[in-house]
Amino acid sequence: MTRYIFITGGVVSSLGKGLASASLGALLQARGFKVRLRKLDPYLNVDPGTMSPYQHGEVYVTDDGAETDLDLGHYERFTGVASRKSDNVTTGQIYSKIIAKERRGDYLGATVQVIPHVTDAIKEFIRADVTDEDFIICEIGGTVGDIEGLPFLEAIRQLGNELGREASLFMHLTLLPYIRSAGELKTKPTQHSVKELQSVGIQPDILLCRAEMEIGADERRKLALFCNLREGAVIQALDVDTIYAVPRAYHEEGLDHEVCRHFGLETAEPDIATWDRIVETVRRPDGEVTIGVVGKYTSLIDAYKSLAESLTHGGISNNVRVKIHWLDAEVFEQDGHVQELEGVHGILVPGGFGERGTEGKIRAAGFARERGVPYFGICLGLQMAVIESARSLANLPGAGSSEFGAVKDPVIGLMTEWTKGNELETRTAEGDLGGTMRLGAYPAVLTDGSKAAEIYGQHEISERHRHRYEVNITYRDRLEATGMRFSGLSPDGELPEIIEISDHPWFIGVQFHPELKSKPFAPHPLFVSFVKAAVEQSRLM
Ligand code: GLN
Repeated sequence: MTRYIFITGGVVSSLGKGLASASLGALLQARGFKVRLRKLDPYLNVDPGTMSPYQHGEVYVTDDGAETDLDLGHYERFTGVASRKSDNVTTGQIYSKIIAKERRGDYLGATVQVIPHVTDAIKEFIRADVTDEDFIICEIGGTVGDIEGLPFLEAIRQLGNELGREASLFMHLTLLPYIRSAGELKTKPTQHSVKELQSVGIQPDILLCRAEMEIGADERRKLALFCNLREGAVIQALDVDTIYAVPRAYHEEGLDHEVCRHFGLETAEPDIATWDRIVETVRRPDGEVTIGVVGKYTSLIDAYKSLAESLTHGGISNNVRVKIHWLDAEVFEQDGHVQELEGVHGILVPGGFGERGTEGKIRAAGFARERGVPYFGICLGLQMAVIESARSLANLPGAGSSEFGAVKDPVIGLMTEWTKGNELETRTAEGDLGGTMRLGAYPAVLTDGSKAAEIYGQHEISERHRHRYEVNITYRDRLEATGMRFSGLSPDGELPEIIEISDHPWFIGVQFHPELKSKPFAPHPLFVSFVKAAVEQSRLM
């Protein structure tokens, strides 16, 4: 039987609903259950693909090519379960589907309404693509009280009713603010938020309360009394020093126990030793390295969520703390500033779109190449490194990317067709902004004897993509003559996937996003190797 856990948020946003959902997933998994996590986003965009990373943080890409909310990254990092297109839906997607159906006349003359048509479509999404999972954990984006969230709340209310208590559970995440002058944690905002939920017919079964200090017995009693639940169902969620300590912390507070109690499930205590080991390394590393991340959205860490986590994972496997020095690429466009990179042990240029800051990134790549500093280029970061080598070493001063307008030598260009398996895929310059990208998992074949092959320890890999432009294969010979090696290619040999500079301690660029697949308990080999190179570099300095 599949059970559904619905997680809503109250009082304020940014309470870490995604992490709470992911951690509950990890705990249920540790009790031997099969879980899947889903996110319902009430905003009107069809997907976050066209949203600015400043607004919405990173766009997380699944193997099957969906551009999704960054919470799906937390889900994958905590459970290891690869998310799919069917794990994230938005109001925009629901409405597009309904309106298309209406235009086709599929509603046979009926008036199309929020209830039942929108709510039915939401319920259909929640229950689709489920096979033998024991739990579907469904996080509702936004905060209770948001107007656009109402159809989602109505849909989960109906579902709760249809499934019955034995197959559904409502959990509400709230905040107990600490009022310094009174020296107290306040329960009132939570009471109001639960009233709001009750007014749409939802009675939470579990309250997960974020607080910066212990919740006293009085407050617990008050919450239970006013929010209409047992005291045992009030779970405190105190701040922790690393996100990987959350599963252990919630377990100690009885979260997974309370969930099992609700469903009448008995299991052995969960085995969370792996999480303890991870936390132990994060808290007491053997050393520290500094990685300079040269990007564009460096003022908003959420824009590089998976990247930052992957560097931490690389640190865990090398037993070091990775300190990230966020650097705005534009600064390096002024003469002399690139020298600011002198103190870092590794340089990483992440993915990005648009021309702003690219000349600074090219300089950073040049600095890393000339000084022998480990360089990791991801997607745009690879493209920048290729342009740098083309200009400095291949005698192509006019080299650039056609993303930024007409260039003399488009070493990075728009490929209009390639094959995937036996199928021909095409892309046009005029397509929709959201629709022309190479998205999702693509295989690549690695060159024997290359550094990439050594790092992966295998010949064929599959990684996730999200980009429009490619390294232009017609420049291969001229680029390889400079000492650059094309060490990973699409199986048809048309699309360069990995480049490396052989005569350098560690210089690798990848067209894909390895950060989307790294997990604390299974760090991505490229990040492990890059951090290792940074450790070696730190010994030289
Ligand atoms: N803007 C580049 C492209 O579209 C790189 C994209 C990325 O870094 N994700 O190809």
